[in-house]
Amino acid sequence: MPRKANKKAKVNKTKKEKKTKPFSRLRGMKDVLFDDYRYWELVIKKANDLAKIYSFKRIETPILEKAELYERSSGKTSDIVSKEMYVFIDKNKERVALRPEATPSLVRAYIEHGMFNLPQPVKMFFLGPLFRHEKPQSGRLRQHTQFDLEMFGEASPVADAQLISIAYNFFRELQIDVQIQINSIGCKECRGEYVKKLLSFYKERGKRSKLCKDCKKRLTKNPLRLLDCKEQSCIKVREGAPQIVDMLCEECRQHFIRVLEYLDELDVPYNLNPFLVRGLDYYTKTVFEITPIIDDEKEVKRQISLGGGGRYDDLVEFMGGRPTPACGFGIGIERTILKIKEKNIPLETREKDIVFVAQLGDQARRKAMMLFEELRRAGFNVRQSFTKDSLKQQLEEANRIGAKLCLILGQKELLDETILIRDMDSGVQEVIDYKKISSEIEKRLHNEKK
Ligand SMILES: [Zn+2]
Ligand SMILES: [Zn+2]
Repeated sequence: MPRKANKKAKVNKTKKEKKTKPFSRLRGMKDVLFDDYRYWELVIKKANDLAKIYSFKRIETPILEKAELYERSSGKTSDIVSKEMYVFIDKNKERVALRPEATPSLVRAYIEHGMFNLPQPVKMFFLGPLFRHEKPQSGRLRQHTQFDLEMFGEASPVADAQLISIAYNFFRELQIDVQIQINSIGCKECRGEYVKKLLSFYKERGKRSKLCKDCKKRLTKNPLRLLDCKEQSCIKVREGAPQIVDMLCEECRQHFIRVLEYLDELDVPYNLNPFLVRGLDYYTKTVFEITPIIDDEKEVKRQISLGGGGRYDDLVEFMGGRPTPACGFGIGIERTILKIKEKNIPLETREKDIVFVAQLGDQARRKAMMLFEELRRAGFNVRQSFTKDSLKQQLEEANRIGAKLCLILGQKELLDETILIRDMDSGVQEVIDYKKISSEIEKRLHNEKK
């Protein structure tokens, strides 16, 4: 529209006082609403408890970092960096990125704060949002929350196995059936030999033309990633490809065997997956993914992993620190919650029974407010709705939130120094001595449990 016409239109609009169109959230972004928070509390509590038991300490890093941090660590050819990262120039003309994954930031923090001076291993627990501009679909959000555990300064295969077992138990204790997909992608030495062999396999006649567009690029830029392409035609071509586990150097081979032995002892079921490479530049030796066990055949193809991780022994040094072996994993909180909902896993309701305090009349309300505070301090799980005058509305509220008992204080009870106690299930109500409220509540809640 030409400028002048636009101006004119604007004037007309202000005269009519046009209503603002309501805003909606960005695509791929989600609000967490009231009911969902029950799931969040459950899952985050599980993450917290496990982190504490295994002595991982909480750490938080900024959401915004230099874009180069991720380009250098995750690799410029990784999907996360090349396709999905939110990058922009800020007001100081600095290229910054919204954190697309946690590990590079945690490595940066480890180096920047001189954590190599601390007793090793340094065990970090991270819980925070990550941003990836992915194609939105079920379980794939552009902002999602990740639970991460990372262990710095520990080369032993015990560390890999322990992390995998923690991730496995996280899901098992939330009643989600998962399987661990595991592979070793070797080290600098043995991987080079393998990649050469892999490339000569793909250069055999007729194979290149069957690959997808991305995989054609991978042939020169990131050959390992040829193995985990999800395109059907590429999956077909890779059948018969050489497997890296057959070409590991002695150290990598021993490490992998010991990880698997520990997993056997810890009773963690796993599936050796020769095509698992995880798509990030920094991994060495062990890589793993956690996938849900799905009965429905059709669903299997569409399944997305709930989390994953691995060892990254060279990354700290590569990012400017001292040589420090390390490993870790990340689990998607939203995907985990989605699974709990899909499977209709009942939420544990360990909350104490609710006692609702209702009132009728202004004087009674004042006394009820005091009573509410007394009961709360005494440790009862009390609720109220003192802004409402109607007893009917208050009882409806008590019903809605699933209160076990309702205390009703009216003008008559005020004078008699009594109170009505109503069993919300049976509707039976009794007049009791005001002074005996606590013991009467205890008695009824206790009987209920028997
Ligand atoms: Zn090796
Ligand atoms: Zn492909």
